[in-house]
Amino acid sequence: MDFTFDSADEAFRSQIRAFLNAHLPADLAHRNRRGYHPLREDTRRWTGILHANGYAGANWPAHWGGTGWSPLHQFIFDEQCLLAGAPAVDTAGFKMIGPVIMNFGSDAMKAEYGPRILRGEVFWGQGFSEPNAGSDLASLTTRADVDGDYYVINGRKIWTSFVESADMIFVLVKTDLQARQRGISMILVPREAPGVTIRPIHDIGESHSLNEVFFDDVRVPLSNLVGEEGKGWTYAKFLLENERATSAEWPRNNANLQRLRGYMNQDRGDGRRLIDRPGYARRLASLDVDLAALKWLTLRALHEKTGGQNHLPMGSLLKVRGSELLQKIGDLQVEALGAHGLYVYPDTLGDDTAEHAWPPAPEYAPGIMADYLYRRATTIYGGANEVQRTIIARSFLEL
Ligand SMILES: Cc1cc2nc3c(=O)[nH]c(=O)nc-3n(C[C@H](O)[C@H](O)[C@H](O)COP(=O)(O)OP(=O)(O)OC[C@H]3O[C@@H](n4cnc5c(N)ncnc54)[C@H](O)[C@@H]3O)c2cc1C
Repeated sequence: MDFTFDSADEAFRSQIRAFLNAHLPADLAHRNRRGYHPLREDTRRWTGILHANGYAGANWPAHWGGTGWSPLHQFIFDEQCLLAGAPAVDTAGFKMIGPVIMNFGSDAMKAEYGPRILRGEVFWGQGFSEPNAGSDLASLTTRADVDGDYYVINGRKIWTSFVESADMIFVLVKTDLQARQRGISMILVPREAPGVTIRPIHDIGESHSLNEVFFDDVRVPLSNLVGEEGKGWTYAKFLLENERATSAEWPRNNANLQRLRGYMNQDRGDGRRLIDRPGYARRLASLDVDLAALKWLTLRALHEKTGGQNHLPMGSLLKVRGSELLQKIGDLQVEALGAHGLYVYPDTLGDDTAEHAWPPAPEYAPGIMADYLYRRATTIYGGANEVQRTIIARSFLEL
């Protein structure tokens, strides 16, 4: 495997940097560099800009209307976007349900949603987990019964991220109550359909992205079924493998470590810098090594994807290493903030520049604690790490 970037890759990197310099609005970059949750309007604006410039659908093939970039160019694009502070596009649309629809959906479904996802006109929530079905997802109980030309959905989902600002929810339901995995189907539900109720769950970071969703006699046309009835488990596994590969988050790990290095190199007002303290310098070096290892693991996964090989459970490997590194970098980020690490600067639309932050803080501080608290969940969402370790062990032991 040759992981060196050749001159064409470097030219591509320069092209992306030039694009970001010219087109990324400063207010979007400011919010995003802080690590705050993306706002729907920020994401919509940025996706529109990408689309207008031919950069929408970085991970989509050209025949779906995407860029058709190689996995390596997608990697470079994501890396540069995060470093510049560009908001994420709607991950649930581009990386989760979009590829499911484009691979398994009807022609009508592809035509309806593909172009709208690319233009940033439709946002999605992932309705999988339930109060008694997280790691053991197949034991979900939300059900869909056929009534004429409609499915009637009843049940309850939990931890549904960003659904409060979504237009559509892709929901796993039981269409056959007797069967386990083969009784599961995937159905698209408009968030505003009568009978859908959303209740917010506020988290420790004093922000809001999590919700409970209740379905009470929600009626949707039979044509909202994705693919075939009873195949929802197959589509969910396909989707979750993509989600886990995404949650390696090399670009975010890289951007966070660079931010940390930036403020460890700053004079703290007494002529001293954190980087000059051996304990801090050693930990930063150790994180650097872990980051390099994650980069090579990610590139290896991309190489295998390109070559059509799939010997290892790469999604699970990337998820475990990437999520743990994000938390380790977060630990040092908060510690390095000293007293300023005690405070959560909540994810607000208010002015959080240094002179307006309360309590007063250096320019680099706001947002770090809020992001740190949210990232406690990285080892849980997308499938808990303990469960991923079992998947990895089973694969290596060929069980
Ligand atoms: C911030 C956040 C965002 C989320 N967003 C979404 C979303 O948008 N849509 C959605 O559908 N879900 C979402 N989730 C839910 C997430 O997918 C589940 O929380 C996760 O799958 C774990 O399920 P659970 O919470 O029911 O925990 P449980 O499955 O009850 O697990 C509890 C603990 O037991 C351990 N455990 C369970 N089974 C095993 C096993 N077989 N072997 C070893 N250990 C085990 C787990 O590792 C964990 O530590 C989100 C969760 C969080 C925290």
